[in-house]
Amino acid sequence: MKKPDYLKDLLKCELCEHRCGVNRLAGEAGVCRVTLPTVASAALHQAPPESYTVFMAGCNYKCLNCQNWTISQYPDNGYEQRGYEEPDKLAAECVNQLNSASADLMGADRIFFSGGEPTVHLPYIEAVVAAARKIKPDTKINYDTNGYMTEQSLKRVLSFTTSITYDLKAYHDEVHRALTGVPSRPVLRNAEYIARNAFDKLWEYRIVVIPQINENEIRPLAEFIADIDPLLRVCFLAFRPNFALENHKGAGRGLMRRCVEIAKEYGLMNAYWSGFTGLTGKVIKTAGEIRESYLSEGAQIAGSYAYYAGCQTHPRDCSTCSTNQACMVKRYIPSKIT
Ligand code: SF4
Ligand code: SF4
Repeated sequence: MKKPDYLKDLLKCELCEHRCGVNRLAGEAGVCRVTLPTVASAALHQAPPESYTVFMAGCNYKCLNCQNWTISQYPDNGYEQRGYEEPDKLAAECVNQLNSASADLMGADRIFFSGGEPTVHLPYIEAVVAAARKIKPDTKINYDTNGYMTEQSLKRVLSFTTSITYDLKAYHDEVHRALTGVPSRPVLRNAEYIARNAFDKLWEYRIVVIPQINENEIRPLAEFIADIDPLLRVCFLAFRPNFALENHKGAGRGLMRRCVEIAKEYGLMNAYWSGFTGLTGKVIKTAGEIRESYLSEGAQIAGSYAYYAGCQTHPRDCSTCSTNQACMVKRYIPSKIT
């Protein structure tokens, strides 16, 4: 396939904070392991903001609790994806779907890019958005992100989005690393940048609450957000056992209510929770091998799950990890699909 001009950023990829500098067009892979932009699937979706959601394959994180792991851990876990598609073709599909009676009934009014992490495919997404707006100039766009992108990429994202849904996993670096494989600082920096410079675009921050892993992160996250602006919207999502945390216990209603109370204590006026609660499970015993690498209980528990899933580097640091091209976490297949 002749490589189109809009993919020139992939010649030396620095789209996200891993800043791998690899030539993806020549088949070199960075931490995300994605070379060409790859569509996983697309469908009308009822969760707010209602949309035609395009899931992009692959991610720059290796979250232990990923609920979209069949997509995010592409290309290493063997799950089939739709593949590369011409931006014009995908744009036409999106616009057509948003014009359909089903979209109308559902109130779907935008293209929602999710994944995986759409930033891995940013130039491609820009091309799809431009093509969609050629067909329908007022096409709305939601960008669903983990926030681990460079400041330059963030400015590009802000230039074409209508709304942003933004995941916060943890405040403290060691918990963030243990859960995702990457540091928290760039994510917090970008979260603050959006809130201060594009308040109206921020649909909500989303925080998946995982018992005993990031429970103690709720206070510092609530304080961090409230210090920026108490009107910012925060959705706490109840963790459901998934992926490398397939046997971990789900979040209970009491915990979810407590998160909202904590948010209110810090003055946040738009905090709420959603999700299924009370799913049973247990908490893994801390692995002796990683005990010295993490200080807090939450990081030790997450680090233990990572260790048992095959993670080789502790504290986790996928950017510098010598085995990031043969990562066992990316190949992890849970025993049950939840
Ligand atoms: S991990 Fe980030 S910087 Fe590295 S190749 Fe993937 S998108 Fe590019
Ligand atoms: S093995 Fe390396 S690349 Fe894989 S999750 Fe652990 S730190 Fe990240």
